[in-house]
Order: sequence, then C-alpha cells, then structure tokens
Amino acid sequence: MGIPVIPADCLNSVGEAPTAWHFSNQILNAVALVKQHPNLFLLCVSNFSCTIDAFTHALLATEMGAKPYLILEIDAHTADAGVQTRLEAFLDIAHNYRQAQASRAAPFTLCRMSASGKVTRSNGDHVPITDPRVRLYFPNFSQYHSQALAMATGWLGLHPGEVSTLDRSQLERGLQHTSGRECLPLPVCIGQLLQIHENRRGDEIVGFYMIPGGAPCVSASYTGYIQQFIADQRLPDLFLLSLQEDEGCLGSDQTEVARRLAAAILTADILVEIDHVLRVVGEPGSVDWLRDAWRHFAAAARSLDDFDAELPAFVDRLAALPRRRDPSTCPRVVVTGDFFTRFSPFFMEGVDAVYAERGIILKPVDLSDFLVYLDYYGVVETASGWGMKPGGWALAKACTRFMQSDGKRYLQKWLACQAERLIEHHYRDLFRRTGLLVAGPNEVSSLFESAAEHVSPLIYGEITPTVGKGLDADHEGYDGVILIGPFNCLPFRVSEAILRPLSVQFAMPMLSYESDGYAVSPSVLRQVDVHVHQVLDHAARRRERPTRASDSVAGFLAAAARKLH
Ligand code: SF4
Repeated sequence: MGIPVIPADCLNSVGEAPTAWHFSNQILNAVALVKQHPNLFLLCVSNFSCTIDAFTHALLATEMGAKPYLILEIDAHTADAGVQTRLEAFLDIAHNYRQAQASRAAPFTLCRMSASGKVTRSNGDHVPITDPRVRLYFPNFSQYHSQALAMATGWLGLHPGEVSTLDRSQLERGLQHTSGRECLPLPVCIGQLLQIHENRRGDEIVGFYMIPGGAPCVSASYTGYIQQFIADQRLPDLFLLSLQEDEGCLGSDQTEVARRLAAAILTADILVEIDHVLRVVGEPGSVDWLRDAWRHFAAAARSLDDFDAELPAFVDRLAALPRRRDPSTCPRVVVTGDFFTRFSPFFMEGVDAVYAERGIILKPVDLSDFLVYLDYYGVVETASGWGMKPGGWALAKACTRFMQSDGKRYLQKWLACQAERLIEHHYRDLFRRTGLLVAGPNEVSSLFESAAEHVSPLIYGEITPTVGKGLDADHEGYDGVILIGPFNCLPFRVSEAILRPLSVQFAMPMLSYESDGYAVSPSVLRQVDVHVHQVLDHAARRRERPTRASDSVAGFLAAAARKLH
C-alpha cells in the first residue's frame, strides 16, 4: 500500500509510563506521538477479548479525539481479505482527514460577481467581466440553445466559454457528488461545472449562469447548493452568474441584454423545431446538415446586426432543403415539462425516434415561452395585488400609478412581454418561409387563462406554463401531449395530476414520463406504442373534421361557449 510503518517498540519514549502494563504503556506512548505529528496515524493490533486492551482502548479513544485510528482485533478465524479491506478503508479515511485538515488551515474565498460588473477573484483581485480571461458558460440542455447563448454573450462584448457536447457522462459525474434525491438538472449542472473546471485554461475565470427560481420548483436552491459545492471542492475563480439587476446585468444596459438574449433564444427554439420536423420530412443527412450549418453560422455572427443581416440567406438555404412530405400534413405532439428534460437528447433517448418513424413531429415547448412567462408572472402578481386580472382595467390602473412601485412594475413587465412578442413574431415570420415550422407564436396570456382554472396563477415556476400548454394543445392543432419531468420534480407531479384526468376528459392523448436520465424501460416503451396509435387516430379524426361543415360550426360554437364559461 506504499505507507511506511513504524513498530511501536521502535519509538522514543515521550513521558512517564501511565499504567502498570508494558504493552499498554507502549500503545499510549504511540498515542502521544501520533497526537504530536499530523502525518502520523495509529494502527493498533489487539488480541480477541484482551481485558487490558479494553481499558487501554477506552483511554486511547479519548486521547485521539477526532483523529482517525484503526484497532485490528485478531482471533483464530481472522482472514487476510477482511484485514485488507479494513486497512484500505482506514487509509481512505486518513487521506480524507488530512485533506479536510489542510483545507481548514488555508481559508478559501469564493469568487463572486459584484453589482458594478466586476468579478472578485478567489485571491481578492477585481477584474471587469469584459476581461478576456473571464469566460461565461450556460448550463447545457440543448446544443442549439447553448450555441445561441454563447453567440449572444459575444454580442455583449463578453467572452463565451467553449460549448461542450451534451452527454450523459455529465449527469453520471454529477450524481457522484450529490445524494441522488435532488431533481436531475442539479447533478447535470454539477457534472458540467466540473467538466468546465477541468478543461479551462490556466488563467481562466469561469462564470456559470444559474437560473433564479421560486417554490414549488427547487431551482431557487440551486444557487446556494452550487456555491457551497464550489466552496467545499475549493474550486478557485469560479463564480455563479445571474442576470438580476443587482448584479449589474453583465455590466450592460438591461434592455440591450434582454434584446440580444431574446433573439438568440428564439432562434434556438425555432431551430429545435426545424430539427424535429426534418427528422420526419427531411432527406437522410438533413438534420446533420442543419446542425453543422447552424454551428458555423452562430460562430460567424459577431454582432446582432451581423446576425440579422445574414439570417435571411441562412433561412433561404433551409427553405431549399429537399423534403419527402409537407410538414403541415403530419401529426404533431407537443412536449411539455421541465426544460432540461424536454430538450435534452438523453432523458427520453430512443423515444423521439419512435415518433419520427411513424411520421409524428414532436414539438418541445419553446424556452422563450418560459422567459415570457417570467415577465407575465410579474404582471399577474401585480394585478392580483390590486384584486384584478391582467388586462385593460389593470393596465389603466398601472398607468395611473406609474410613479408608484407597483404601477411601474406592472408597466415594465407588460412592456417586456410586448417587446418579446414582437421579437418572436419577427423571427417566426422570417423562418416561416422555410415551410418547416409547425407551431404558431406563443400566447402567454391564454396559457395563464387556461391554467388558472386548475392551479393558482400565483404559484411560480413551470406548473402554469406546463399545464397551460397541455390544455391549449387541442386548440393549437396538436394531436397529443407528452409531459416529461426529471425524477423528483414536484412541478412535474402537480402538472401530471392536473393534466392526466383532463386529457381523458378532452380526448387528448397524453403520455407522462418521469425520467431518471437512463434507459427508457420496456413498460414505458409499450405506453409509447399505445400513445403513438392514439395520436395517429386523433390526427385522422382531425383531418376529417374540416370536411364536414356542420362539425366545424359546432366546434366553433363549442369553443366559443367554453371561452364564455
Ligand atoms: S422544474 Fe422540477 S426539475 Fe426543474 S428545477 Fe424545478 S423542481 Fe427541479
């Protein structure tokens, strides 16, 4: 095992013999020396049921305190393998103890971002966030979004870190450092953080974005958890980044940040949609072509102006892609639930291919939908404080109170939503000429309205968008819903409890799946098979519907009646 061993009878005597027994005194002499030397540990060999050792060991335990030691009590049946295992365990414990002692001796300072757009390094130095040594990273749940966010980071005069490929090894790595009871995006983030730390250049200062959250979603606890992890692991020059105003919003004007991030995220959402459409209608190789073309395009777009100028040509290349059928004739299924799982390639590995083979297009709910939700939540919350619903009267009230904080907040959030809608319309209209879009623009107010009948709109987080999207699926022309969540996600369970009976009531085929990040079990694959058949039936019925004029009128009247109700 490579550890030098010193027999106790070779040690200098460091005091008076405290007991009447020779070997007891030898042990206690060793104990005194071990206490003096941090690098010296005690291994004590004893005979089974030795009465004198029983007393000696009690004294030894008191003297040793927290420092680890090993007592091997040997009898006639003791086997080598058992001794070997205990020795290995003891050496591990001694090793960990030394590391913990060393870390206690040298204080560690967390790297932080301050309100003025400055980063305080672990050594106390301050550097501006624009310093080329500062590299910014976002948790990766979708390659398109990560590349888009890296691109937008560059547009802000900041320096993006390299976008690594998303794979399951990051989850596995993170699980080694967590209890396994947290919701799965946490170990994914921890795994990615460690990967970034190990691959960074020597002088690199890492900023890792962490989304704020609120109950019942536990993402609000992620920041504190990961900060503690960074401190425990003593990872220097690694700070958590948020886009909150109190952190200087990346040292730039907040509107500029929001405009650039919105353009990047919306484009990524649209490309995810096109990727799924091409899996069904594209020629072989077209998905790889799209991923490659986008990667090059994103790397070359140095500013938002460049991006906007070059985008029409990129869209034209997409429009020219050959296709086997018209996407508008394909059945569609909306995929809702936590955004890590609905975009990630491995939380439902293999399942998306089953749908694509049967000609069904999957449409993960846009990430931008959640960002608009965050602003609209501010509108709803403020209006609710006035005992009102968002809308014309609440807007009028906000205008009369624009000098007060509540009126100002309502107007700010409402304007932010309007700006996001305009940006979304702009990019969706541009990409619509590819003929590869299957979803319309997101209507956040309708989503809140639909969900509000079943869950309080004041409950923050993924529940309202998830439930709202599930309920609007029929009206938006989908033929089925997939609700996916990571293991141990409370918003997923609440959403599932609400949507499951409603999907039966409204005859909307729904599959819900709580993923542990690993292989999908055969029983779930059987449910997938059933869901595929239900979706195809639903699509067939939908195709029949417009041909019967009386049905169309009845459907219209029924929808109108539901609205009035
Ligand atoms: S939505 Fe669920 S999985 Fe995602 S952070 Fe919140 S609790 Fe965790």
